[in-house]
Amino acid sequence: MIPQNLIHKLPKLQTPLYFYDMELLQQTLDSAAKASRHFGYHIHYALKANFNVKILESISATGMGADCVSGNEIIKALQSGFHPGKIVFAGVGKSDEEIRLALEKDIFAFNCESLQEIEVVNEIAASLGKKARIFLRLNPDIEAHTHKNITTGTAETKFGISPLETELYLKQQEHFNHTELIGLHFHIGSQICDFDVFRELSLKVNEIQDHFEANGIQIQHLNMGGGLGIDYKNPTQNTIPDFKGYFETFHQHLKLRPGQQVHFELGRALVAQCGVLLSRVLYIKSGEHNRFAIIDASMTDLLRPALYEAYHKIENLNNNGNTDAVFDVAGPVCESSDVFARNIPLGKTVRGDILAIYSTGAYGQVMSSAYNLRSPARTLYSDEME
Ligand SMILES: *Cc1c(COP(=O)(O)O)cnc(C)c1O
Repeated sequence: MIPQNLIHKLPKLQTPLYFYDMELLQQTLDSAAKASRHFGYHIHYALKANFNVKILESISATGMGADCVSGNEIIKALQSGFHPGKIVFAGVGKSDEEIRLALEKDIFAFNCESLQEIEVVNEIAASLGKKARIFLRLNPDIEAHTHKNITTGTAETKFGISPLETELYLKQQEHFNHTELIGLHFHIGSQICDFDVFRELSLKVNEIQDHFEANGIQIQHLNMGGGLGIDYKNPTQNTIPDFKGYFETFHQHLKLRPGQQVHFELGRALVAQCGVLLSRVLYIKSGEHNRFAIIDASMTDLLRPALYEAYHKIENLNNNGNTDAVFDVAGPVCESSDVFARNIPLGKTVRGDILAIYSTGAYGQVMSSAYNLRSPARTLYSDEME
């Protein structure tokens, strides 16, 4: 994950820096593509996890589609080689301009998240003389057993159409003659490692399908969303997620109708492990109870620890001898939550050492901000190194 030629460059490295292992990315994509092909499933990469053009181009080259959550993501996906016919558009707050753009670009489908959104999509499609293909994003009320801020499929979240609005939709369906209902969509959360959750989702989807059929509606496509988790604890040993086991779970439990197509929107699982945030130790200081390593990366480069109390494995690449020295690792930003880890064994650590913060390829660089007027981190791709 950290190649030898990069280790040699450490003293001169300009930090903070996002390093992307493009070979690992390719292996991960190949593994996911092979597993999905086995079952005839379609993958739409969730652009929001990482939208660096080089990464998008690697992914579009595999023939995967894209899952976009804004008009700008649709434009970026098209520029990076994704086929419009493989783009899905999700999000609870699509603006009129974004809907118009998606219709003009003739994307595969909208994942609609409210009854009113369907009305607006229908209206705009009518004004353009088009018919919008839509999925209903339904809220199956399933607990993903992940952090509360990345849970999206329970009744109290803002995501998806509630059972109440679904019934209203079924009653009014024929009024929306500039939309075509082609599928049902579900996305219940992120960083899900317990496959039982996906089994539970599949069983719920079977019930929901029966209900739609009882109302005379045949479903051509099922989109099961994303959410497959990665191993943040052992990023260097467990680099590629169990795509086969993931798809196998759906294969075993989903009751598919003849000819029905199944879609997935993977983000994190495809790109998280190929990214490593490298940061230099600026200062070591002793507090009342703990010792701090203050580093030059901050929550403006990697927000996940501050936002979700997320764990990222951190190692000192200078490896000054393996003592039991324990540190809190913190960034320079004026916020108490600008801390990457507490009480972690870094070994002997001194000013100038380089720390590797692993598993930062997803929801890392894309969440950067300029808070405190900080400069953005640099980027280095493994296939662009001398
Ligand atoms: C974020 C998101 C995804 C991707 O989630 P991961 O956990 O990164 O796989 C998929 N679908 C929708 C609708 C999303 O919002």
